[in-house]
Amino acid sequence: MITKYQRVNALYPNIMVLKCAAEIIQEGGVVAFPTETVYGLGADGFNEDALEKIFIAKGRPMDNPLILHIASSREIVDVASYISARAKKAITAFWPGPLTLVLPKNPQVPDQVSAGLSTVAVRMPAHPIALKLIKLARVPVAAPSANLSGRPSPTTGFHVLKDLKGKIDMIVDGGPCRWGIESTVVDFTDEIPTILRPGAVTREMLESVVGQVIYDPGLKNKQVVPKSPGVKYLHYAPRGDMYLIQGDNSQLIVAKLKELIQSYKGNGKRVALIATNEIIGMIDDLKLDFNLDYIGNLGSKYEQELIASRVYHLLRNCDRFNIDIILTEGLSEEGLGAAIMNRLLKASGNKVIKA
Ligand code: AMP
Ligand code: MG
Repeated sequence: MITKYQRVNALYPNIMVLKCAAEIIQEGGVVAFPTETVYGLGADGFNEDALEKIFIAKGRPMDNPLILHIASSREIVDVASYISARAKKAITAFWPGPLTLVLPKNPQVPDQVSAGLSTVAVRMPAHPIALKLIKLARVPVAAPSANLSGRPSPTTGFHVLKDLKGKIDMIVDGGPCRWGIESTVVDFTDEIPTILRPGAVTREMLESVVGQVIYDPGLKNKQVVPKSPGVKYLHYAPRGDMYLIQGDNSQLIVAKLKELIQSYKGNGKRVALIATNEIIGMIDDLKLDFNLDYIGNLGSKYEQELIASRVYHLLRNCDRFNIDIILTEGLSEEGLGAAIMNRLLKASGNKVIKA
Protein backbone atom coordinates (compact mmCIF):
# COMPACT_ATOMS: atom_id res chain seq x y z
CA MET A 1 0.00 0.00 0.00
CA ILE A 2 1.23 3.50 -0.78
CA THR A 3 0.97 5.82 2.21
CA LYS A 4 0.16 9.43 1.33
CA TYR A 5 2.24 11.83 3.43
CA GLN A 6 1.28 15.49 3.84
CA ARG A 7 2.67 18.18 6.11
CA VAL A 8 0.07 20.58 7.48
CA ASN A 9 0.45 23.76 9.49
CA ALA A 10 -1.01 22.99 12.92
CA LEU A 11 -2.54 26.41 13.51
CA TYR A 12 -3.82 27.13 10.00
CA PRO A 13 -4.39 23.68 8.51
CA ASN A 14 -4.70 23.38 4.74
CA ILE A 15 -8.35 22.50 4.30
CA MET A 16 -7.84 20.62 1.02
CA VAL A 17 -5.45 18.18 2.70
CA LEU A 18 -7.86 17.62 5.58
CA LYS A 19 -10.76 17.11 3.14
CA CYS A 20 -8.72 14.43 1.39
CA ALA A 21 -7.97 12.77 4.76
CA ALA A 22 -11.66 12.97 5.79
CA GLU A 23 -12.72 11.35 2.51
CA ILE A 24 -10.32 8.47 3.12
CA ILE A 25 -11.93 7.94 6.54
CA GLN A 26 -15.44 8.12 5.06
CA GLU A 27 -14.47 5.53 2.45
CA GLY A 28 -13.24 3.12 5.13
CA GLY A 29 -9.50 3.92 5.07
CA VAL A 30 -7.10 4.70 7.94
CA VAL A 31 -5.35 8.06 8.47
CA ALA A 32 -2.75 9.08 11.06
CA PHE A 33 -3.16 12.61 12.43
CA PRO A 34 -1.76 14.73 15.26
CA THR A 35 -3.59 15.36 18.51
CA GLU A 36 -2.34 17.34 21.50
CA THR A 37 -1.41 14.07 23.26
CA VAL A 38 0.20 11.77 20.65
CA TYR A 39 -0.51 10.93 16.98
CA GLY A 40 -3.70 8.90 16.45
CA LEU A 41 -4.51 6.31 13.79
CA GLY A 42 -8.06 7.18 12.77
CA ALA A 43 -10.87 5.27 11.11
CA ASP A 44 -14.67 5.58 10.93
CA GLY A 45 -15.83 4.45 14.38
CA PHE A 46 -19.02 2.96 12.91
CA ASN A 47 -17.42 1.03 10.02
CA GLU A 48 -16.46 -2.48 11.13
CA ASP A 49 -14.14 -3.18 8.18
CA ALA A 50 -12.30 0.10 8.72
CA LEU A 51 -11.93 -0.63 12.43
CA GLU A 52 -10.36 -3.97 11.62
CA LYS A 53 -7.73 -2.19 9.50
CA ILE A 54 -6.55 -0.28 12.59
CA PHE A 55 -5.92 -3.52 14.49
CA ILE A 56 -4.10 -5.07 11.52
CA ALA A 57 -1.88 -2.04 10.78
CA LYS A 58 -0.80 -1.70 14.43
CA GLY A 59 -0.69 -5.41 15.22
CA ARG A 60 -2.99 -4.52 18.12
CA PRO A 61 -4.57 -7.32 20.19
CA MET A 62 -8.31 -7.49 19.36
CA ASP A 63 -9.24 -7.35 23.07
CA ASN A 64 -7.77 -3.85 23.45
CA PRO A 65 -10.62 -1.34 22.91
CA LEU A 66 -10.31 1.93 20.98
CA ILE A 67 -11.03 5.51 21.98
CA LEU A 68 -13.68 7.31 19.90
CA HIS A 69 -12.81 10.93 19.09
CA ILE A 70 -15.53 13.51 18.58
CA ALA A 71 -15.40 17.15 17.47
CA SER A 72 -18.08 18.55 19.78
CA SER A 73 -19.32 17.45 23.21
CA ARG A 74 -22.88 17.34 21.82
CA GLU A 75 -21.89 14.28 19.75
CA ILE A 76 -21.32 12.24 22.91
CA VAL A 77 -24.94 10.96 22.78
CA ASP A 78 -24.07 9.11 19.54
CA VAL A 79 -21.55 6.93 21.38
CA ALA A 80 -22.58 6.82 25.06
CA SER A 81 -25.95 5.81 26.52
CA TYR A 82 -25.68 7.59 29.88
CA ILE A 83 -23.60 10.52 31.07
CA SER A 84 -23.54 10.98 34.85
CA ALA A 85 -23.51 14.40 36.51
CA ARG A 86 -19.84 13.94 37.45
CA ALA A 87 -18.96 13.02 33.85
CA LYS A 88 -20.73 16.17 32.63
CA LYS A 89 -18.71 18.31 35.05
CA ALA A 90 -15.45 16.73 33.86
CA ILE A 91 -16.41 17.33 30.22
CA THR A 92 -17.20 20.98 30.91
CA ALA A 93 -13.87 21.44 32.71
CA PHE A 94 -11.48 19.45 30.51
CA TRP A 95 -12.86 19.23 26.96
CA PRO A 96 -11.49 19.76 24.45
CA GLY A 97 -8.41 18.21 26.02
CA PRO A 98 -6.44 15.16 27.12
CA LEU A 99 -9.24 13.47 29.11
CA THR A 100 -10.91 10.24 27.92
CA LEU A 101 -14.15 9.20 29.61
CA VAL A 102 -15.26 5.57 29.87
CA LEU A 103 -19.08 5.55 29.83
CA PRO A 104 -21.90 3.05 29.21
CA LYS A 105 -21.86 2.27 25.48
CA ASN A 106 -24.58 3.29 23.03
CA PRO A 107 -25.69 -0.02 21.44
CA GLN A 108 -25.02 1.32 17.93
CA VAL A 109 -21.24 1.44 18.61
CA PRO A 110 -19.63 -1.64 17.00
CA ASP A 111 -18.11 -4.30 19.26
CA GLN A 112 -14.66 -3.82 17.69
CA VAL A 113 -14.50 -0.35 19.28
CA SER A 114 -15.26 -1.58 22.79
CA ALA A 115 -13.65 -5.03 22.36
CA GLY A 116 -16.93 -6.53 23.49
CA LEU A 117 -17.18 -4.46 26.71
CA SER A 118 -20.45 -2.75 27.66
CA THR A 119 -18.59 0.56 27.98
CA VAL A 120 -17.02 2.93 25.47
CA ALA A 121 -14.10 5.37 25.72
CA VAL A 122 -14.62 8.86 24.26
CA ARG A 123 -12.60 12.06 23.99
CA MET A 124 -12.76 15.46 22.30
CA PRO A 125 -9.18 16.40 21.40
CA ALA A 126 -7.88 19.99 21.57
CA HIS A 127 -5.74 19.93 18.43
CA PRO A 128 -7.01 22.11 15.51
CA ILE A 129 -6.06 19.47 12.90
CA ALA A 130 -7.77 16.65 14.81
CA LEU A 131 -10.92 18.70 15.42
CA LYS A 132 -11.20 19.86 11.80
CA LEU A 133 -10.58 16.36 10.45
CA ILE A 134 -13.23 14.76 12.70
CA LYS A 135 -15.70 17.51 11.77
CA LEU A 136 -15.10 16.96 8.05
CA ALA A 137 -15.33 13.16 8.40
CA ARG A 138 -18.74 13.61 10.10
CA VAL A 139 -18.35 10.41 12.13
CA PRO A 140 -16.82 9.61 15.51
CA VAL A 141 -13.23 8.70 14.68
CA ALA A 142 -11.78 5.65 16.44
CA ALA A 143 -8.11 6.43 16.98
CA PRO A 144 -5.55 4.56 19.08
CA SER A 145 -1.97 5.81 19.11
CA ALA A 146 -0.43 5.61 15.61
CA ASN A 147 2.47 3.29 16.50
CA LEU A 148 3.09 -0.42 16.12
CA SER A 149 1.57 -2.09 19.16
CA GLY A 150 3.98 -2.22 22.10
CA ARG A 151 6.35 0.48 20.73
CA PRO A 152 6.73 3.99 22.16
CA SER A 153 3.80 6.18 21.07
CA PRO A 154 4.47 8.60 18.18
CA THR A 155 4.87 12.26 19.02
CA THR A 156 5.94 13.39 15.53
CA GLY A 157 4.84 12.56 11.98
CA PHE A 158 8.26 11.02 11.41
CA HIS A 159 7.66 8.49 14.22
CA VAL A 160 4.43 7.45 12.48
CA LEU A 161 6.22 7.14 9.15
CA LYS A 162 8.85 4.86 10.72
CA ASP A 163 6.20 2.52 12.20
CA LEU A 164 3.36 2.55 9.68
CA LYS A 165 4.63 3.54 6.22
CA GLY A 166 3.08 1.17 3.67
CA LYS A 167 0.48 -0.04 6.18
CA ILE A 168 -1.97 2.88 6.27
CA ASP A 169 -3.58 5.20 3.69
CA MET A 170 -2.31 8.58 4.85
CA ILE A 171 -0.21 10.48 7.39
CA VAL A 172 -1.11 14.08 8.18
CA ASP A 173 2.07 15.53 9.71
CA GLY A 174 1.27 18.55 11.86
CA GLY A 175 4.57 18.68 13.75
CA PRO A 176 5.32 17.60 17.32
CA CYS A 177 2.51 16.98 19.83
CA ARG A 178 2.18 19.36 22.76
CA TRP A 179 1.80 16.87 25.63
CA GLY A 180 3.68 13.89 24.23
CA ILE A 181 1.91 11.33 26.42
CA GLU A 182 -1.54 9.79 26.01
CA SER A 183 -4.78 11.07 27.51
CA THR A 184 -5.92 10.32 31.06
CA VAL A 185 -8.52 7.52 30.85
CA VAL A 186 -11.19 7.78 33.58
CA ASP A 187 -14.02 5.34 34.17
CA PHE A 188 -17.19 7.27 35.06
CA THR A 189 -19.50 4.24 35.19
CA ASP A 190 -19.08 3.76 38.97
CA GLU A 191 -20.05 6.10 41.78
CA ILE A 192 -16.41 7.16 42.32
CA PRO A 193 -14.53 7.98 39.08
CA THR A 194 -11.52 5.70 38.57
CA ILE A 195 -8.31 6.56 36.70
CA LEU A 196 -7.55 3.61 34.41
CA ARG A 197 -4.53 5.28 32.79
CA PRO A 198 -2.82 8.41 34.19
CA GLY A 199 -2.23 11.27 31.76
CA ALA A 200 -1.95 15.01 31.38
CA VAL A 201 -5.17 15.67 33.34
CA THR A 202 -3.94 14.77 36.82
CA ARG A 203 -5.83 13.23 39.72
CA GLU A 204 -5.55 16.55 41.57
CA MET A 205 -7.09 18.42 38.62
CA LEU A 206 -9.95 15.91 38.39
CA GLU A 207 -10.64 15.99 42.13
CA SER A 208 -10.92 19.77 42.09
CA VAL A 209 -13.87 19.36 39.70
CA VAL A 210 -15.64 16.05 40.50
CA GLY A 211 -14.66 15.27 44.11
CA GLN A 212 -12.97 12.00 45.09
CA VAL A 213 -11.16 10.14 42.30
CA ILE A 214 -9.27 6.86 42.75
CA TYR A 215 -6.59 5.03 40.77
CA ASP A 216 -7.50 1.59 39.41
CA PRO A 217 -5.72 -0.80 41.84
CA GLY A 218 -4.71 -2.90 38.79
CA LEU A 219 -2.36 -0.08 37.69
CA LYS A 220 0.18 -0.88 40.41
CA ASN A 221 -0.81 -4.21 41.97
CA LYS A 222 0.11 -7.05 39.64
CA GLN A 223 -2.29 -9.41 41.46
CA VAL A 224 -5.28 -7.28 40.33
CA VAL A 225 -6.48 -7.36 36.69
CA PRO A 226 -6.46 -3.78 35.33
CA LYS A 227 -9.89 -2.43 34.30
CA SER A 228 -8.43 -1.06 31.08
CA PRO A 229 -7.58 -4.03 28.84
CA GLY A 230 -4.68 -2.23 27.12
CA VAL A 231 -2.85 -1.65 30.39
CA LYS A 232 -1.93 -5.33 30.81
CA TYR A 233 0.24 -5.44 27.66
CA LEU A 234 3.91 -4.51 27.30
CA HIS A 235 3.75 -0.92 26.15
CA TYR A 236 5.78 2.06 25.04
CA ALA A 237 8.86 -0.15 24.94
CA PRO A 238 12.13 0.43 23.11
CA ARG A 239 13.94 -2.65 21.75
CA GLY A 240 16.76 -2.55 24.29
CA ASP A 241 16.47 -3.74 27.89
CA MET A 242 15.43 -0.84 30.07
CA TYR A 243 16.10 -0.40 33.82
CA LEU A 244 14.80 2.28 36.14
CA ILE A 245 17.15 3.32 38.95
CA GLN A 246 15.05 4.51 41.87
CA GLY A 247 16.09 6.19 45.11
CA ASP A 248 15.74 9.36 47.18
CA ASN A 249 19.40 10.34 47.11
CA SER A 250 20.78 11.58 43.80
CA GLN A 251 24.39 10.81 44.84
CA LEU A 252 23.41 7.16 45.30
CA ILE A 253 21.54 7.13 41.98
CA VAL A 254 24.61 8.49 40.21
CA ALA A 255 26.87 5.93 41.92
CA LYS A 256 24.53 3.11 40.88
CA LEU A 257 24.35 4.42 37.32
CA LYS A 258 28.14 4.56 37.05
CA GLU A 259 28.47 1.03 38.39
CA LEU A 260 25.89 -0.33 35.92
CA ILE A 261 27.27 1.57 32.94
CA GLN A 262 30.77 0.32 33.67
CA SER A 263 29.62 -3.25 34.01
CA TYR A 264 27.46 -3.30 30.85
CA LYS A 265 30.10 -1.49 28.79
CA GLY A 266 32.63 -4.02 30.07
CA ASN A 267 30.42 -6.72 28.61
CA GLY A 268 30.47 -5.04 25.21
CA LYS A 269 26.88 -3.72 25.36
CA ARG A 270 25.69 -0.50 23.72
CA VAL A 271 24.44 1.56 26.66
CA ALA A 272 22.19 4.63 26.82
CA LEU A 273 21.38 6.93 29.71
CA ILE A 274 18.05 8.75 29.76
CA ALA A 275 17.98 11.13 32.69
CA THR A 276 17.11 14.59 33.93
CA ASN A 277 19.41 17.53 33.43
CA GLU A 278 20.26 17.42 37.14
CA ILE A 279 21.53 13.82 37.07
CA ILE A 280 23.33 14.28 33.76
CA GLY A 281 24.98 17.38 35.24
CA MET A 282 26.37 15.30 38.11
CA ILE A 283 28.06 12.86 35.76
CA ASP A 284 29.46 15.14 33.11
CA ASP A 285 32.46 12.89 32.69
CA LEU A 286 30.25 9.96 31.73
CA LYS A 287 30.47 10.15 28.00
CA LEU A 288 34.24 10.54 28.01
CA ASP A 289 35.06 8.04 30.74
CA PHE A 290 32.58 5.32 29.94
CA ASN A 291 32.06 5.83 26.24
CA LEU A 292 28.28 5.91 26.59
CA ASP A 293 26.51 5.27 23.28
CA TYR A 294 23.65 7.70 23.80
CA ILE A 295 22.60 10.30 26.37
CA GLY A 296 18.97 11.45 26.30
CA ASN A 297 18.30 14.59 28.33
CA LEU A 298 14.74 14.66 29.69
CA GLY A 299 15.10 18.29 30.80
CA SER A 300 15.01 19.62 34.33
CA LYS A 301 13.17 17.55 36.95
CA TYR A 302 11.24 20.74 37.74
CA GLU A 303 9.80 20.91 34.21
CA GLN A 304 7.45 17.95 34.06
CA GLU A 305 5.72 19.11 30.88
CA LEU A 306 9.04 19.17 29.07
CA ILE A 307 9.89 15.68 30.34
CA ALA A 308 6.51 14.32 29.19
CA SER A 309 6.94 15.81 25.73
CA ARG A 310 10.43 14.31 25.32
CA VAL A 311 10.17 10.85 26.79
CA TYR A 312 8.92 8.84 23.78
CA HIS A 313 11.25 10.60 21.37
CA LEU A 314 14.25 9.72 23.54
CA LEU A 315 13.14 6.09 23.87
CA ARG A 316 12.82 5.90 20.08
CA ASN A 317 16.30 7.40 19.69
CA CYS A 318 17.66 4.42 21.65
CA ASP A 319 16.36 2.18 18.85
CA ARG A 320 17.93 4.41 16.20
CA PHE A 321 21.31 3.99 17.91
CA ASN A 322 20.87 0.23 18.37
CA ILE A 323 21.06 0.45 22.15
CA ASP A 324 21.09 -2.82 24.13
CA ILE A 325 20.75 -1.38 27.64
CA ILE A 326 18.80 1.75 28.62
CA LEU A 327 19.31 3.13 32.11
CA THR A 328 16.92 5.74 33.41
CA GLU A 329 16.07 7.33 36.75
CA GLY A 330 12.89 7.18 38.83
CA LEU A 331 11.09 10.54 38.97
CA SER A 332 8.61 12.21 41.30
CA GLU A 333 5.04 10.93 40.96
CA GLU A 334 3.53 14.30 41.89
CA GLY A 335 1.07 15.78 39.39
CA LEU A 336 2.01 14.98 35.80
CA GLY A 337 4.82 12.82 37.25
CA ALA A 338 2.29 10.01 37.87
CA ALA A 339 1.72 9.67 34.11
CA ILE A 340 5.43 9.98 33.26
CA MET A 341 6.41 7.30 35.78
CA ASN A 342 3.57 5.04 34.58
CA ARG A 343 5.05 5.16 31.05
CA LEU A 344 8.67 4.69 32.21
CA LEU A 345 7.73 1.70 34.37
CA LYS A 346 5.73 0.15 31.53
CA ALA A 347 8.47 0.77 28.99
CA SER A 348 10.99 -0.92 31.28
CA GLY A 349 8.70 -3.89 31.90
CA ASN A 350 8.79 -2.83 35.60
CA LYS A 351 12.54 -3.54 35.90
CA VAL A 352 13.41 -1.35 38.88
CA ILE A 353 16.82 -1.22 40.60
CA LYS A 354 17.00 0.46 44.02
CA ALA A 355 19.84 2.89 44.65
P1 AMP B 1 -4.48 3.99 22.92
O1 AMP B 1 -5.54 4.78 22.25
O2 AMP B 1 -3.75 3.03 22.06
O3 AMP B 1 -3.54 4.89 23.66
O4 AMP B 1 -5.21 3.10 24.02
C1 AMP B 1 -6.49 3.39 24.53
C2 AMP B 1 -6.56 2.98 25.98
O5 AMP B 1 -7.91 3.15 26.42
C3 AMP B 1 -6.20 1.53 26.20
O6 AMP B 1 -5.46 1.39 27.39
C4 AMP B 1 -7.56 0.87 26.31
O7 AMP B 1 -7.52 -0.34 27.04
C5 AMP B 1 -8.38 1.96 27.00
N1 AMP B 1 -9.82 1.79 26.75
C6 AMP B 1 -10.48 2.01 25.61
N2 AMP B 1 -11.78 1.71 25.75
C7 AMP B 1 -11.96 1.28 27.03
C8 AMP B 1 -13.08 0.83 27.79
N3 AMP B 1 -14.29 0.76 27.26
N4 AMP B 1 -12.87 0.46 29.07
C9 AMP B 1 -11.64 0.55 29.62
N5 AMP B 1 -10.53 0.97 28.95
C10 AMP B 1 -10.69 1.34 27.67
MG1 MG C 1 -1.39 3.09 22.43
